[in-house]
Amino acid sequence: MVVGAGIAGGGLAAVLARAGMDVLILERTQEHTDRVRGEYMQLWGVEETHKVGLYDDLRESAEANVIRRLIRYGDLTTPEEAEQQAIGLDALVPGVEGALAVSHPAACDALDDAAVSAGARLVRNVNAVAIKPGHPPTVTYVVDGEERSVRPRVVVGADGRESSVRKQLGFELHATTPRVMGAGLRVAGTEAWAADECVIGTDGEWNFLVFPQSGGFARLYLMYDIAHKQKLTGPDKTRLFLEAFQLDSFPKGEVFATATPAGPCAAFPMNDTWVDEPVMPGVVLVGDAAGWSDPLIGQGLSVAMRDARLVSEALAQGDDWSPSAFAPYVEERAERMRRLRYSAYVVARLSCDGAPGAVERRGKFETRVNSDPDLFMVRVAALIGPEKVPAAGFTDEAMALLFQN
Ligand SMILES: Cc1cc2nc3c(=O)[nH]c(=O)nc-3n(C[C@H](O)[C@H](O)[C@H](O)COP(=O)(O)OP(=O)(O)OC[C@H]3O[C@@H](n4cnc5c(N)ncnc54)[C@H](O)[C@@H]3O)c2cc1C
Repeated sequence: MVVGAGIAGGGLAAVLARAGMDVLILERTQEHTDRVRGEYMQLWGVEETHKVGLYDDLRESAEANVIRRLIRYGDLTTPEEAEQQAIGLDALVPGVEGALAVSHPAACDALDDAAVSAGARLVRNVNAVAIKPGHPPTVTYVVDGEERSVRPRVVVGADGRESSVRKQLGFELHATTPRVMGAGLRVAGTEAWAADECVIGTDGEWNFLVFPQSGGFARLYLMYDIAHKQKLTGPDKTRLFLEAFQLDSFPKGEVFATATPAGPCAAFPMNDTWVDEPVMPGVVLVGDAAGWSDPLIGQGLSVAMRDARLVSEALAQGDDWSPSAFAPYVEERAERMRRLRYSAYVVARLSCDGAPGAVERRGKFETRVNSDPDLFMVRVAALIGPEKVPAAGFTDEAMALLFQN
């Protein structure tokens, strides 16, 4: 049983159903809508979709757009320099043609459809999921006012940040203090922008991100120091959000500043969370339910795909579905999320620094990172995968070197 038919739940359910398992998915909503969530999948997440066989589902059913170039506009370079120094995303990870930009609801639908086509049962409008752990666990839930009870072999909690599975079973969620606010808006009418180019840049107090999607849509994000959290609030927030894309360092951003809103504009405090042992008898947590990476560095979709692969591999091993069967997943996830916390801390300190002297600090950091291959790899970790970078890059010593005066 999978509770939550989002990216992690839908993806895992599809993989398990295709492997011939009997899968029941419980989803609270009647349909997936835009909740201002992740819509950019990093190269290492795309690599995972190839490994679990979900790439075509995202590309074809969800019409995911391939992003081949990353341009880092900002107040440290001229627009021309930024374009000359664009990072090619099509040759960094073997077998991966680029990152993916995809509507979150469309991706959930595509993964759910893949699961259902492979024989999984998806029940929507589900409430009051109550779990008693054990071998097997007992689950009750309410649908259409009727209470039902089942005894699956294992329950996967994939019900997102506010996971009721995690909360009701008493898993402890550790959390960092939010340093950054993150706002998002999906826009239409951006056909003039090159569809295979994304943007991540910092100008003044704004860290701005652009991910073009198919059909002339684009997902825009703005990240900013939490000390200024009132910046994008009130009835004018959508207008203020779009105006923020009018930047001297990013003249082509005019396309986005004048685009048409195509979804809600919402802002959230950003942080990292984790659960030390996201397993207990008959229960395993995946995706945001098991703890999330700070959305500032856009890892959640990739994390969900890796979780889906490792949990499906554990279940495919044999008949032992006790917590020890998930040990490789638990161990790998702990180190993966630790490294991503480290990366998010570095990016937040540099890219969303609203204090005086921020431009000078960023300038020094850029020079230092670009001249030291070990330090440079920490930046690359978020693109190619945290495990592909030497562990020495994620230590207190490396951090001290990064931020020395
Ligand atoms: C502002 C913002 C920007 C982000 N940007 C990026 C990005 O660019 N790239 C990236 O990779 N990640 C990004 N993320 C993170 C990413 O969105 C998440 O990590 C990802 O969506 C997690 O997937 P999930 O399946 O675990 O959770 P969700 O996508 O939240 O899905 C959970 C599902 O469970 C259902 N559910 C909830 N409670 C219950 C219940 N009690 N019973 C049954 N069903 C339930 C929900 O309806 C939902 O369908 C961003 C997040 C935010 C907030």
